[in-house]
Amino acid sequence: MDRENLRKDYIQLIASAREYVEQQLQLGITELESEPEQDSPYADFDLPALTADAEGCTKCPLHETRTNVVFGVGDPNADLMFIGEAPGADEDRQGEPFVGRAGQLLTQIIESGMKLKRSEVYIANILKCRPPGNRNPEPNEIETCSPYLVRQIELIQPKVIVALGSFAAQMLLGTKIGITKLRGEFHPCNVPGLRVLPHKKPPVIMPTFHPAYLLRNPNAKREVWEDIQTVMGFLAQA
Ligand code: SF4
Repeated sequence: MDRENLRKDYIQLIASAREYVEQQLQLGITELESEPEQDSPYADFDLPALTADAEGCTKCPLHETRTNVVFGVGDPNADLMFIGEAPGADEDRQGEPFVGRAGQLLTQIIESGMKLKRSEVYIANILKCRPPGNRNPEPNEIETCSPYLVRQIELIQPKVIVALGSFAAQMLLGTKIGITKLRGEFHPCNVPGLRVLPHKKPPVIMPTFHPAYLLRNPNAKREVWEDIQTVMGFLAQA
């Protein structure tokens, strides 16, 4: 390699490092993670074994009130994954994520907007059991349940994750910044302990509004559509 190419590579490397640091600072991350990574209890599980384990899970009190564990649905090799916060009443009844009114809107975004089949993407939530009365997930519930999602992401290895709403975005990005500020651009995934195969890149995260929010605020559909178009552009080139 001649000196000119080396110089170009060096400048590109510095620009990438700078962009990464700026993204981290935007997310409020000012220190490198110093704690050693914990081995996931599910590190050797495949998708069927992980599903079976979740279906018998009693690790947090949500198991007492659930009808069904809502693990996830879709193509296990999908490039695109949607992650919400938790199942609602319809999902709890049917055992499938995003099947109620908000779910129908998500399906419409996938099928009419993106021209994909719902079965071509993978859809999951952070929590696999419904919080009673659709209350917000508690931090300890997210902490207890998230190893299932982390392993799901490891197994599916999507290129892009669309984080639906604040809870999913904040968990995947390791930040407390709200969805309004996060949405509209890609962020690097910041899930502690997430392993990526050597020949794969970690997924990028596109935060956007949760479909349930869109039902209450139809004007926000325009922003979600912009975010989805950005995702489609990325996938077309990936
Ligand atoms: S929400 Fe998660 S951790 Fe809690 S019981 Fe259900 S599967 Fe287990």
